[in-house]
Amino acid sequence: MNYEKSTAAFAKAKEVIPGGVNSPVRAFKSVGINPVIIESAKGCRIKDIDGNEYIDFVSSWGPLILGHANETILEAITKTAQKGTSFGAPTLLETEMAELIVKMVPSVEKVRMVNSGTEATMSALRLARGYTQRSKIIKFAGNYHGHADSFLIKAGSGAITLGLPDSPGVTAAIAQDTLVATYNDLASVEKLFVEQGDDIAAVIVEPVAGNMGVVPPAKGFLEGLRKLTTEYGAVLIFDEVITGFRLAKGGAQEYFGVTPDLTTLGKIIGGGLPVGAYGGKKEIMDMLAPNGPVYQAGTLSGNPLAMAAGLAMLKTLNETPGFYEELERKAKRLEEGLKANLEKTGVKGIINRVGSLMTLFFTESAQVTSFDEAMTSDTKKYADYFKTSLDSGIYQAPSQFEAMFISQAHTDEDIDRCIAASLEAMKKLV
Ligand code: PMP
Repeated sequence: MNYEKSTAAFAKAKEVIPGGVNSPVRAFKSVGINPVIIESAKGCRIKDIDGNEYIDFVSSWGPLILGHANETILEAITKTAQKGTSFGAPTLLETEMAELIVKMVPSVEKVRMVNSGTEATMSALRLARGYTQRSKIIKFAGNYHGHADSFLIKAGSGAITLGLPDSPGVTAAIAQDTLVATYNDLASVEKLFVEQGDDIAAVIVEPVAGNMGVVPPAKGFLEGLRKLTTEYGAVLIFDEVITGFRLAKGGAQEYFGVTPDLTTLGKIIGGGLPVGAYGGKKEIMDMLAPNGPVYQAGTLSGNPLAMAAGLAMLKTLNETPGFYEELERKAKRLEEGLKANLEKTGVKGIINRVGSLMTLFFTESAQVTSFDEAMTSDTKKYADYFKTSLDSGIYQAPSQFEAMFISQAHTDEDIDRCIAASLEAMKKLV
């Protein structure tokens, strides 16, 4: 493929945008090539400015579970835009959205809309602290919850990829209130509770880790977190920014049958527009201003375009019979194809999949059930695999420690093309 225009455009972007990008992973730094600059997309196909077309398994990092430029969502946005783009005042759309979320997500009785996943987790954390009158939180190494200061401690996603687990600019005072436990290791959580239980406001967890590559929760892990937080009077926060509306209508909490106190949402809930949300028990949510003393606000929160897009998205998920079963079937087809490729070529790897979230780890480890095991992956091998795949028209995350996102728009033929391209890419690795 020819990437001439992308290369020139990226050079120009770097002069005026730090690193040439508005979010670090997009720079393709960990795979050592220039990024492709996107022109447009439809369904599961994405096109760059050189005219190259790819089958997209990034899906804007999760939101596009119906594929790009879905007609129902486009229509909702266009119609709503005709009536104005922002009012900074209540609208009917916001209540309709809240009602739908409350109906779909088991633990959510009341919900507040914000503008990103980062805002959702940051606000949920403040609320948990206000509610419990405690300061410390427990997070897990390799889990990513957006870029608010308290979470940039042993964070996943771009923070691992770029080797910036602890960012300058996060003060020691803030960092000391973030306690770090080991994902899938309840004993590491219990130890922190035993030592500092009276000071711990919340445990925040990705119920399926997606930002160190996909790592499913071990049997009993989420249940154990529920038990420990209840015992010590801490708030359990499920960060469902990735898993919400993806694993099931009610997210990971429905899929695994474990009920958190607060849930953070993003990505799918905005249908591709900038949205996040956090919600949970009435008793906790009513601590928020103007009802209670915990402050959180937003000029564009509940934005009508974002609400219209999100509503169209959630209604489609609700109204399409067998939606999640079909995603599961296609994702399984991809998983089985990639597994067969590993066997055929002798390349060492582990595939972790939960529903339509999947990662192929290039590792010699017998399993990837923890952050340490994920870190045994050969990132150089991933980079080579990524580059060959891109050249043959497959667009996936430019980092080993992210997920592949399968959407409704992927057909069996698209999946099979990906499997065929992957086989060629793996052959080149041996
Ligand atoms: N939580 C999780 C689990 C995420 O994966 C992300 C983003 N990938 C965030 C929070 C932050 O969301 P945003 O990028 O919209 O701020």
